[in-house]
Amino acid sequence: MIEKDSVTLYPEKVFPFDKAPGHNEVINITPVVKWIRSPLPLSLDHINCYLLKDGDGWCVVDTGMNVKVTRDHWLGIIESHLQGAPITKVIVTHQHPDHVGLAGWLCENNRAKLLMSEQEYLCSRVYMNHGQADDYWEVDQFFERSAMSAHTLEGLAKSNSFYDSVYALPASYHELKDGKSIQIGDYTWEPILTRGHAQAHVSLYCKVLDLYISGDQVLPRITSNVSVISSAPESSPLTDWYDAHDIVGERVPDSVLVLPAHEMPFYGLHQRLRDVIEHHDERLERVLEICETPENAQSITTALFEKEFDSFQNYLAVGECLAHIHRLMEQGKVTRKLHDNVYLYQRG
Ligand SMILES: [Zn+2]
Repeated sequence: MIEKDSVTLYPEKVFPFDKAPGHNEVINITPVVKWIRSPLPLSLDHINCYLLKDGDGWCVVDTGMNVKVTRDHWLGIIESHLQGAPITKVIVTHQHPDHVGLAGWLCENNRAKLLMSEQEYLCSRVYMNHGQADDYWEVDQFFERSAMSAHTLEGLAKSNSFYDSVYALPASYHELKDGKSIQIGDYTWEPILTRGHAQAHVSLYCKVLDLYISGDQVLPRITSNVSVISSAPESSPLTDWYDAHDIVGERVPDSVLVLPAHEMPFYGLHQRLRDVIEHHDERLERVLEICETPENAQSITTALFEKEFDSFQNYLAVGECLAHIHRLMEQGKVTRKLHDNVYLYQRG
């Protein structure tokens, strides 16, 4: 029997919570699922983390980055709200530093188990040793052929690397496999593995609670970055991203309350899935229009977004633009040719 909780009081509202948890605050989604918000030192200034009742303790889902303000926030939450109950497990949806950053620290300090998909765990371990943009001929070639602006390259060279914002990962982990349900306390959660935003992003669906912890797979207003990255220059992540939306739509019912990693919990999963795909369909059309004349990835990005980016945002924007171009190339709608070591793309 599920206890009545705050969510069932507002089934008709798309966003059932008026405000997010503030510093050292916890909001009960249900009596067995708590919501906290970790501060991030980024333009996106927060990540939602969730606590799932696990016997006498709590299982953490996503953690925030390894910075003092976020570690202090966790210490405050543990002291004020968990009242001595242990952290039993740490689930990380994917290897981006805002999600995995403090997993090692929480696991080490609480002797908690780490649960991740295999690819996300191994990627995190690899990135601890090597940045994504380490000197390598093919990485250099990727930047050159994308015609990425000089200020982007200078900024990336100076930017913090993965290991500056991620605490060392535990030397062991427990693998989350697609569709292989896990038990957390009294409830069963089904991991759903998807590609596009990351290599094997995990979101979690609980049928009995009618909840879906979506990570970055589904966000209510902003769209997750889907990028061709320098370590996989010929990949087509947008095709994976389209597939991911089909997978989530088939396996998670529209009735769920979505608990995303950023912004606010919401109802209306299936409409949001359709809206995101429509957004990418429109962007594909716009890229096609821009490519009436031969253009490079940087010039298409500038025309597409029509705004100034800082160096890291420009890196992501060019990566996202390339994700659209590569999908159009797969569909035979855009061709590519090398001119003075820069790729030019054109419709046709
Ligand atoms: Zn992410």
